[in-house]
Amino acid sequence: MTSSRSAEQVAVIGAGIVGLAQAWLAAESGRQVTVIERSQRAAGASIRNFGMIWPIGQPHGTLYQTALRSRSRWLRLATEAGIWVNPCGSLHAAHRGDEQAVLEEFAAAATGLDISCQLLTAEQVQQKAPLVNPEGLRCGLFSPTELCVNPTEATRSLPAWLSERLGVTFQFGVLASAVEESGGRPEIVFSDGRKQTFDRVIVCGGSDFQTLYPEILAGSGLVACKLQMLAIDGGAADYRPGMHLASGLTLRHYRIFEICQSLAKLRQRIAEETPELDEYGIHVMASQNNHGDLILGDSHEYGNRIEPFDDVRIDEWILRELRTLLRLPSWQLSRRWHGIYAKHPELPVFQHEVRPRVHIFAGTGGSGMTMSFGLAEDFWNGIDNG
Ligand SMILES: Cc1cc2nc3c(=O)[nH]c(=O)nc-3n(C[C@H](O)[C@H](O)[C@H](O)COP(=O)(O)OP(=O)(O)OC[C@H]3O[C@@H](n4cnc5c(N)ncnc54)[C@H](O)[C@@H]3O)c2cc1C
Repeated sequence: MTSSRSAEQVAVIGAGIVGLAQAWLAAESGRQVTVIERSQRAAGASIRNFGMIWPIGQPHGTLYQTALRSRSRWLRLATEAGIWVNPCGSLHAAHRGDEQAVLEEFAAAATGLDISCQLLTAEQVQQKAPLVNPEGLRCGLFSPTELCVNPTEATRSLPAWLSERLGVTFQFGVLASAVEESGGRPEIVFSDGRKQTFDRVIVCGGSDFQTLYPEILAGSGLVACKLQMLAIDGGAADYRPGMHLASGLTLRHYRIFEICQSLAKLRQRIAEETPELDEYGIHVMASQNNHGDLILGDSHEYGNRIEPFDDVRIDEWILRELRTLLRLPSWQLSRRWHGIYAKHPELPVFQHEVRPRVHIFAGTGGSGMTMSFGLAEDFWNGIDNG
């Protein structure tokens, strides 16, 4: 650690998982870190998600490796911070011939690409994941790399660990309303009228495009995306998914499966048979948290289409597709909510140096839980290595 690094004072704006990842990596390299969060506790996308650490969704190559590095850090948090992390793996189930074709093609290619996964027969799926609906089940793809975390508990407990272990300071309940300059250093103007200078500022405001640098964010390509989610209370019945479960619809959602030529046929069938799934970006997945709750979703609506109101038809379509994937003892829902994240059409995250030592780092899309730690590692390596 160099003395200039250890003296560097860094402000991170936003205590979602992206900001927490930045704070962790900056503090680990010896910097003095302050996190500023407008809410009294995190309430954004980072507490509203499935809690899936999902390397299998990342495109093969660098991003897949970044996801695996993040995964290692989550496992570290389990032992060092006592955060609940379940190394459950994932299963994509095929209930249609075109879904089976994609899984078979992917499994055949995966070995050469160093992606660990295993094609299972319908019988093997039933043994490993008894909640998968046996009706029409053709096969499944098991991947061992996925983890499950409880996003609300993890995101809200990380600040205490970062404070205790690495001396990170948190200021909750205060908005950073502007970043100015004073004496050649970035200066944050707070909503309570205070001002404070730092050596470096990292803006991790998630889907807030209005408060800081709206003009840059407007031209960044970032777009907001709303997802509708559902949950079934773990206490209501004994659910044992065994691992994260995803239906064949998910194969058209994650870029890693784009290496399969057979995907085109699957996409075409969805477009012709169930266009509402394309219109509302619906694919279905289920995870199970440490309390036994099943977290179910989801849909994707972008930009100006986003309304504050949740559309009950979307929930019905999600449930219809989930019934193909799962056979549950009870479908009694305990919660419904939506979350909004920022997404860039091409980049895993939008990074921009607004002026020297003032950075925007936002827009991890549907992969923030999976990618943030690895992306923050790359960011600070980039700073330290020029
Ligand atoms: C429904 C849903 C399901 C998802 N499922 C998964 C999943 O299973 N796996 C996965 O990898 N990813 C998943 N994601 C994506 C992941 O949740 C996001 O990529 C990630 O949470 C984004 O983190 P963030 O820190 O950028 O945003 P947020 O969590 O929204 O945090 C941004 C924070 O910045 C604060 N803030 C903004 N502006 C200011 C300001 N000026 N001053 C002070 N504070 C400010 C906000 O209050 C907020 O707390 C999902 C997302 C959603 C919505």
